[in-house]
Amino acid sequence: MTKNDQYCGFEQGPIRPPSEAYSLLIRVTRNCPWNRCTFCPVYKGSRFSIRKVEYVKNDIDSVHRYVEVLQHMGEESGRISRIDANKLSKNIKQVDLQAFSAALNWLNSGMSSIFIQDANSLFIKPSDMAEILLHLKKRFPGVERITSYARSHTVARIKEADLNAIRDAGLNRIHIGLESGSDLVLKMVRKGATKETHIKAGIKVKNAGIELSEYIMPGLGGRRYSEIHALETADALNRINPDFIRIRTLAIPSNIPLFEDYKAGRFKKCSDLMTANEILMFIENLGGITSIIKSDHILNLFEEVEGAMPEDKEHMLSIIRSFLSMNPERRCLYQVGRRLGLFHCLGDVNNSRRMAKVEKICRELGITPENVDETIDELMKRFV
Ligand code: SF4
Repeated sequence: MTKNDQYCGFEQGPIRPPSEAYSLLIRVTRNCPWNRCTFCPVYKGSRFSIRKVEYVKNDIDSVHRYVEVLQHMGEESGRISRIDANKLSKNIKQVDLQAFSAALNWLNSGMSSIFIQDANSLFIKPSDMAEILLHLKKRFPGVERITSYARSHTVARIKEADLNAIRDAGLNRIHIGLESGSDLVLKMVRKGATKETHIKAGIKVKNAGIELSEYIMPGLGGRRYSEIHALETADALNRINPDFIRIRTLAIPSNIPLFEDYKAGRFKKCSDLMTANEILMFIENLGGITSIIKSDHILNLFEEVEGAMPEDKEHMLSIIRSFLSMNPERRCLYQVGRRLGLFHCLGDVNNSRRMAKVEKICRELGITPENVDETIDELMKRFV
């Protein structure tokens, strides 16, 4: 008997966008129907499947039930303490514990947003998606935002009327992994989408009145395609004008297909300095758009390169230029401090307490401007 033959309780998938940290996660499909991108470790070795609408609704009902129980408890005692919740959880059947825990976390986070999992939820029949969304709205009418990941390839093929119906049912933001606007890069990393597909899908989402978040991956073109990656990605986004552009820098852990190419020397990874130049070129070439740029991933070298286009463009560029103009020793210390989570902005290099810690670590580990990129590679693998 497979997991789809019977309901096995509330399910959650492995990931969500960083901006959905406080969202309730509702799993509609399992894993990724494409699963071939060479830079992506998330679902490798796992088969894609679609959960029955009835089971997804069961999940929603379970969370709703526990939210009501917890809210009632809170009304009686004036608060829901972790101790009360732990006591209550002892009387809950094993199969329901995950739903209970999701309800508790979501309630404590304000219950304002929901994220539909996994990698490409719009793959399911539009009528099924609308049914699930309407059920969510019925159970949780106060929710402000319901969002999902989707592949450009899938969105480009959805009929406009179906996308509008999904919007009307409550989906108000779609997250797309654009990664690059360069066809050379997209083909190399087996993204399964071309620049034109990305543009078509992005414009379709915007025209449907759904907010659009596009993820880009600095470094994905390697040294060979760094420049064209920056230029073509900027051009694609200039033509889409998404609501959000989110930066997530390439890392190469050993469990991704790209690692083989990297190890064999077929893929030459950019140094931090090259990646900084690439991001600089990318932002320099953005124009005519009103997107908000976010850098909300720990893998990024610049957490503070964020802002609204066009008004914050010069400020974002000035941060990258400051990094590039640092002397190699100071730049090396910033790179290490940033990846250790000790620095959040370039100005943190002036924080003597934190800087002393970074200097000590660099001394102990023998990190110098000459070998810093190898050390950074190791640090970045921890965050993938
Ligand atoms: S489409 Fe997304 S989840 Fe699927 S393999 Fe590519 S990056 Fe990973």
